[in-house]
Amino acid sequence: MRMENLNIAERFYSAIERDRRERKAGIHVSDLIGPCLRQSYYRLNFGESYNRTTALNFWGGRKLHETPILREHELELEAYGVHATIDEYEDGVLVDKKNLFRDMPLPPQPSPQYIAQMEYYTVILAANDRPVMKAVLLYIPWFNLQVGPMEVEVTDQLRPVEVVRAELVSRAAALTDLPSRRIGDHCVYCQYFNRCFCVKMQQS
Ligand code: SF4
Repeated sequence: MRMENLNIAERFYSAIERDRRERKAGIHVSDLIGPCLRQSYYRLNFGESYNRTTALNFWGGRKLHETPILREHELELEAYGVHATIDEYEDGVLVDKKNLFRDMPLPPQPSPQYIAQMEYYTVILAANDRPVMKAVLLYIPWFNLQVGPMEVEVTDQLRPVEVVRAELVSRAAALTDLPSRRIGDHCVYCQYFNRCFCVKMQQS
């Protein structure tokens, strides 16, 4: 092919596709924190659809996480049958990085989903001899570099480790069979919508 006919955008998408990392098999913390466990069940059993928008988001998110900050970086751990990739950990400090897209302001409160994620990480770290004394969400503005990274400490918002451990174990166990629907606004964005409601029609 003549170089002037080269479609650079196509080459870019092919390159990020090659660069993609497959998710380790099994249940991950991200499967336990969403509003609907049934959605996670579908993802675990039927896989995830992948298109150019999701490809770009995965790639951007991965690049954002690439630079190590603390001594233990992208730490892959497992406990109670659940996998976790911890962004950063050092001497009792847990840091999880979050993208802030475009002009998104810093949320007034971290979402319950992010808090649950930090709680589950705390339980898995504790089971791997890494107690958490301080938990921080580091919001990184991806598109608006005039704003610096923002640190939000969430330690006081985390529930006791024993309470969270029981919840983590029971949510992970719930993924062995098809969980009930949790119908809500999130269904509009669910990639398994047709599968979920087709099954209902077949059952009725
Ligand atoms: S459509 Fe709604 S209820 Fe069904 S799996 Fe998706 S999020 Fe859950």
